[in-house]
Amino acid sequence: MQLRYSYRLYPDAGQRQALARAFGCARVVYNDALAYRQAAYKVGEKYPGDAEVSAMLTRSKSTPERAFLNEVSAVVLQQALADLSQAYKNFFDSRSGKRKGQPVGLPRFRSRKDAEQSIRFTANANFKIRPDGKLRLPKIGHVEVRWTRELPTAPSSVTVIRDSAGRYFASFVVKVAERPLPITERECGLDLGLTHFAVMDDGTKVAAPRLLRKAAKKLRNVHRALSRKQKGSRNREKARVKVARAHAKVANARRDFHHKLSTRLIRENQAVTVETLSVKGLARTRLAKSVHDAGWSGFVNMLEYKAELYGRDFRKVGRFEPTSQTCSACGVKDGPKPLSVREWQCKTCGTVHDRDVNAARNIAALGRREALYARGDQVRPAWMLAPVGEAGSRRGAG
Ligand SMILES: [Zn+2]
Repeated sequence: MQLRYSYRLYPDAGQRQALARAFGCARVVYNDALAYRQAAYKVGEKYPGDAEVSAMLTRSKSTPERAFLNEVSAVVLQQALADLSQAYKNFFDSRSGKRKGQPVGLPRFRSRKDAEQSIRFTANANFKIRPDGKLRLPKIGHVEVRWTRELPTAPSSVTVIRDSAGRYFASFVVKVAERPLPITERECGLDLGLTHFAVMDDGTKVAAPRLLRKAAKKLRNVHRALSRKQKGSRNREKARVKVARAHAKVANARRDFHHKLSTRLIRENQAVTVETLSVKGLARTRLAKSVHDAGWSGFVNMLEYKAELYGRDFRKVGRFEPTSQTCSACGVKDGPKPLSVREWQCKTCGTVHDRDVNAARNIAALGRREALYARGDQVRPAWMLAPVGEAGSRRGAG
């Protein structure tokens, strides 16, 4: 499987200039190709394929207006075209239903004001990690890297990114062999929520890291400082970078927390099931801050790739299943409950439930159903939960 390994880059002044030029050229090529495809669409021609767009790029490089494109690595420009083709493919696949998840819109023009600028070098661009640890990038130079961990094998590509805080990163794509862990009997259902970051079906509750809240005061200060600076002034630019850095710090701490928890869960369990939350829906409510704070989607992605890497099962069950309304002991649907109800008693079997733990148990049971269905052992039942013996075997009498 393919993994990304990211490191901080420290380009010197000349290299930063060369990178800025390369970001700009990649952007121009991307936008030219997008305009070309839009124009073809407008006059009713068929979608121009990659070869046609690539030929268009070659032609434009010989015109005086686009001669500057020759100053950067040709691979960088080809990769910008590849990005656009991928963006179109995502749009087409999303529209035809081939691609699941949030609907993907048409590609949009890139701007120099975008928060993130990036270029990509593939292996045939001849980028190289030198014996002295520097990264050789064609037409950029030998850039200093902070190697925080070793690359397992030679990378197939590297993306160079400049974020809004003005930091540079190299993100390498590396092919790694899967390393399955010894099989374990344990499985885990996970309810991701707002009162706790995660609640497991065995009753374990992982507190939400209120990192953003703790840092909120600091963020408020830097934001206030920014708003007092005059538009377009040097001081305003400095204040903007301070704001971006404060945000980056919180993001780092959050990522660290997600890494530790996801690794632990994947190591300890043969299968992990989570409920896919409608994060976008929640983000529009007054809970937006907590949703942003929790950053579930990044965490779920980590669970997914780590499961693949370590030979575990990762399952997602849909939000449409009423996991917080159904008794995990007897399977009877008890009706909707407002978020304020943290504990309830099943009217049918009398079991007293912690709202989140009950939901996590239902998620675990659903995960097992999905797994059976995937193996074709039985026809998928309509919404129905496992009887208590099955759902609770690993917890015994507890
Ligand atoms: Zn019950």
